[in-house]
Amino acid sequence: MREALPPGSTIGILGGGQLGRMLAVAASRLGLKIHIYSDEPDPPAFAVAAARTVAGYNDADALLKFAGAVDVVTCEFENVPTAALEAAGRNAPVFPPPRAFAVAQDRLAEKDFLQELGIAVAPFAPIGSVRELQAALPGIGFPALLKTRRFGYDGKGQVMIRSQSEAEAALDSIGHVPAVLEGVVLFEREISVVAVRAQDGTLHFYDPSENVHQDGILARSRVPAPISATCVFEARKIAGKIANALSYVGVICVEMFQRMGDGSALVVNEIAPRVHNSGHWTLDACLVSQFENHIRAIAGWPLGETSRHSDAVMANIIGADADRWRDFASAEGTSLHLYGKEEARPGRKMGHFIRLYPKT
Ligand code: AMP
Repeated sequence: MREALPPGSTIGILGGGQLGRMLAVAASRLGLKIHIYSDEPDPPAFAVAAARTVAGYNDADALLKFAGAVDVVTCEFENVPTAALEAAGRNAPVFPPPRAFAVAQDRLAEKDFLQELGIAVAPFAPIGSVRELQAALPGIGFPALLKTRRFGYDGKGQVMIRSQSEAEAALDSIGHVPAVLEGVVLFEREISVVAVRAQDGTLHFYDPSENVHQDGILARSRVPAPISATCVFEARKIAGKIANALSYVGVICVEMFQRMGDGSALVVNEIAPRVHNSGHWTLDACLVSQFENHIRAIAGWPLGETSRHSDAVMANIIGADADRWRDFASAEGTSLHLYGKEEARPGRKMGHFIRLYPKT
């Protein structure tokens, strides 16, 4: 166990998106300073950071210098090169552990890791060629999903295959990169669990949220998810098992499918080694948000309370919907969070709002 970093210490964050921005706001409330490292000239988190570095994630000198200027390094996006984490790790402690990123960045490594822990995943097969895909399809069945092993997010890098004859075109469409073929899970709903693990192994969980995706992008999360107490228990058990197996420190999110017709049978889709969009509701419905708890964990502080004091629905504001900020700002019982992004491109997350309801 390290000594807790006292107020006035500096947290270094790799990545400058909205997650980094919300981490910075949470840290500043605790009297901690934030240094953002980004490969972009003016990312959302720069506006709320005490110090900024603009450099590539493969720039070992810049990473070493950055890590030398902060007391701990963390990350707000999951596709950070693990070499960047290792470089930073020479000059500062890095949380979460690089292994969590190695596992989460590769859908095959992720599925192997989950299976070894005895956690259910969709049926899958590694795919490296058209021949392998053709051979795997009958076993997986139709429809099946072909996903790139790396760099997939928000439904990108994946394609549905409905018949054997579509195999070649499917691999063409993902550029013949290494892939995983997945069976389609018939699910009642998608849920996720945000958990936080401290340096001493203490684990706290937020309530699982029910998540609705549109065009592969999270549209809404609500708590409580309409699931049984047994299912909540199972979901937390899975997230805890993953966090413990990785000796994790910080906030982790595990996305799961609740299988159709089978109350508490959960299938894990993805692990995110960071604060997560489906945990944004914790900003207003909990005393201590996922962002603050991530900062507390990596700084060696006691974890804060994760229980919810209100029911909540979080909705993302995507693309041109951001123009409706006046409507969102005047909606009853609603808080508005905007990320300070200038260009509202289609599919771009511009902000979110959270509507609170009395706790049920
Ligand atoms: P992913 O990029 O893996 O998070 O997938 C994005 C979304 O696609 C998920 O949130 C699900 O709605 C859907 N999806 C992904 N994999 C599967 C699967 N094996 N079965 C059913 N739906 C899936």
